[in-house]
Amino acid sequence: MKKIKTIGVLTSGGDAPGMNAAIRAVVRTSTYHGCHVLGIQRGFTGLLENLFIPLQNHSVAQKISLGGTFLKSSRCPEFKTRKARSAAWQNIQLQGIDALVVIGGDGSFRGADLLVKEFGLPVIGVPGTIDNDIYGTDYTIGFDTAVNTAVQAVDKLRDTADSHNMVFFVEVMGRDAGFIALNTSISTGAEATMIPEVQTDIGKLCEYLELERRKNKTSGIIIVAEGEEQGSASAVAAKVKERLPNYETRVTTLGHVQRGGSPTANDRVLASILGHDAVVALLDGKTGMMVGVVNNQTVFTPFHEAYSRHREINKRWVNIAYILSL
Ligand code: ADP
Repeated sequence: MKKIKTIGVLTSGGDAPGMNAAIRAVVRTSTYHGCHVLGIQRGFTGLLENLFIPLQNHSVAQKISLGGTFLKSSRCPEFKTRKARSAAWQNIQLQGIDALVVIGGDGSFRGADLLVKEFGLPVIGVPGTIDNDIYGTDYTIGFDTAVNTAVQAVDKLRDTADSHNMVFFVEVMGRDAGFIALNTSISTGAEATMIPEVQTDIGKLCEYLELERRKNKTSGIIIVAEGEEQGSASAVAAKVKERLPNYETRVTTLGHVQRGGSPTANDRVLASILGHDAVVALLDGKTGMMVGVVNNQTVFTPFHEAYSRHREINKRWVNIAYILSL
């Protein structure tokens, strides 16, 4: 096996708070072990367009607290073609990159897996996405920050909901998973949570709202995951309004504010540990895997498993959210 002297690092797919902390950890760990680091800008696009920048320890000073990714990210549809990946491989060889750390979501791991399988490049993936929907880790980098952002927003909406006896339908991100919605809901004491993993009956939701009102509850917060099968927060609000025309309803879609901002301490710690462990794994000869944390232990999951398996939501927590809202 070729000795690893130069490690490349890139961020790909949707940006997430904490990606900078992960890059920093990759750079500092590599330097500690005597390796050089090349940062690749704009994800897989940078491999095609030769966007390489040398990174030293000082290059990542004061980056740990910054949201987004200073290496920038992109979607690179061409990377799905063998031709583009071969061009990338040529550039990787020309730059003398011996191994790669890919920070991103499941799409990025599909691309990374092909680099391993087609060209034998050692690659380790680091899960960076606010959605927390990746199999093989309890938490993804960015999730905690996104939930905290959503919680702050919902706390503010609660003031208005309460002052005006309103029901707010708040749409949070999460693609086709309800992790952000569930944690936001538990943290804000929302009256109901609508997530794709659990079927919601609009009739039952309306009965529940009526019951709450009879108990003199003056406000209502319904958290709707963006992947909810009943539709968007506005679609759900319209269905409820049809059955309960006297209710004052409002809709707020939090959108991309959830992706930005300074990462929380939890995300910084997670990113630092995973970034460190990704480099150590490469130096130990591991490849084709994502590094994650399960029960506070670092674990490695083959890429194909990480992107093809489905991470289950904790149904017990769904039930607890319901009990605590009564
Ligand atoms: P995320 O990594 O956050 O899931 P995407 O799904 O957009 O984000 O994937 C990021 C990038 O990974 C894509 O723009 C593309 O360059 C690459 N990618 C995704 N799927 C594949 C695939 N099947 N084959 C090769 N590359 C892929």
